[in-house]
Amino acid sequence: MSSLGTEAADYTEACTKCQRVGKLYKSQSNCPNIISLHTTRSSICAGKKSGQLLEKKKKSLDRLGKIVSAWRNSGGGQVLIHVEGQLPEDRCLEQFDEFITRSLTDLIDDGELYVDTYRRQWLSDIQKFRDYTNFVFVNVKKTNGLATVDFNTKVRNDIENVSVTSANLGKCMLKRRKNTVSPTTRGLYENTQLLHECRHIEIKALHVDRLKSAVATKLLRSPSDFVDYIWYDLKLKDNLTSMSKIEGGGSYYVGISENILDIESCRTKILNIDGFSIKFEESEITSAIESKLQSDTIALYGNNFCDVPVNLIEVRLHPINGTDRRVLEVAVRCFDGIIFSDKDGPRAYEVKNNNIHRMDKAVWLERFTAVMT
Ligand SMILES: [Zn+2]
Repeated sequence: MSSLGTEAADYTEACTKCQRVGKLYKSQSNCPNIISLHTTRSSICAGKKSGQLLEKKKKSLDRLGKIVSAWRNSGGGQVLIHVEGQLPEDRCLEQFDEFITRSLTDLIDDGELYVDTYRRQWLSDIQKFRDYTNFVFVNVKKTNGLATVDFNTKVRNDIENVSVTSANLGKCMLKRRKNTVSPTTRGLYENTQLLHECRHIEIKALHVDRLKSAVATKLLRSPSDFVDYIWYDLKLKDNLTSMSKIEGGGSYYVGISENILDIESCRTKILNIDGFSIKFEESEITSAIESKLQSDTIALYGNNFCDVPVNLIEVRLHPINGTDRRVLEVAVRCFDGIIFSDKDGPRAYEVKNNNIHRMDKAVWLERFTAVMT
């Protein structure tokens, strides 16, 4: 779905301290791009099982990514991060660094070094602000390239979909693929010994009865809810973008599970074509996937963004003999261009009219092409 123009750049969460210190700091600084970001000590330290705190941490990191992408793409800037709950005597920044470093590193794609791009420091180290002990400011240097938060397109190896770098994507854009014939479904293999995951094949299990009841109820509700589930949770969106970059394309299956087996103390996997039971017809699933392509994807063909061609995919629901269970196969053909799993293309930000905005895909392409050539 389109999300352009929805970024209201106020990340203070109505914290009056953020607002007051931000205002004071801005009045003392000559940096044109400064923004306050409210966080708490407990959320930045949240572990993988921290529930709500982890959600807050992800939200803060998402905001930090937007800000840093915008500052990198628009002449540089500073982020004033309020760490509410930080004790004045605790000056250790290790957990803070663990919190920010990965996201910030992902936004360096131009061969620059982290230490040349960012500098973080306690605000209280500045004499005038010595009483403000729980603020850290991060200096962000501009890029001569383009800082993209998410390219919204993947590439494959033989076991998984992986993120691209600018260099990867630049190469994919230049490479002309000849074998872009119609997608061909591979069908169900009679001998499962011959079926293995590889760059052309991705398999997903679907055991509706093992899902949380709210998730199961939702995915069985309508063909579009079912497609939403496989699109996001079972990563059809990533497989579509990655398989379309390979000669020969690929097939994405839902309804095949893997049993792990130890043979002479070596681990191996046996595939089990167990399928899933669902009341929708093949034609209903096909049109729901086609609608998803129309609403949530865009293609880059040559120098133009355009709708993804309808013949990019072919969908089959293979019946399993003697049962009401079926296996879904989505065959994806090779495409001579790039497919993005977001209607607005790659996700990058810039400063426009003194605010942070999602970069328009045409502007992104212009900048990306300028950097690559
Ligand atoms: Zn605050």
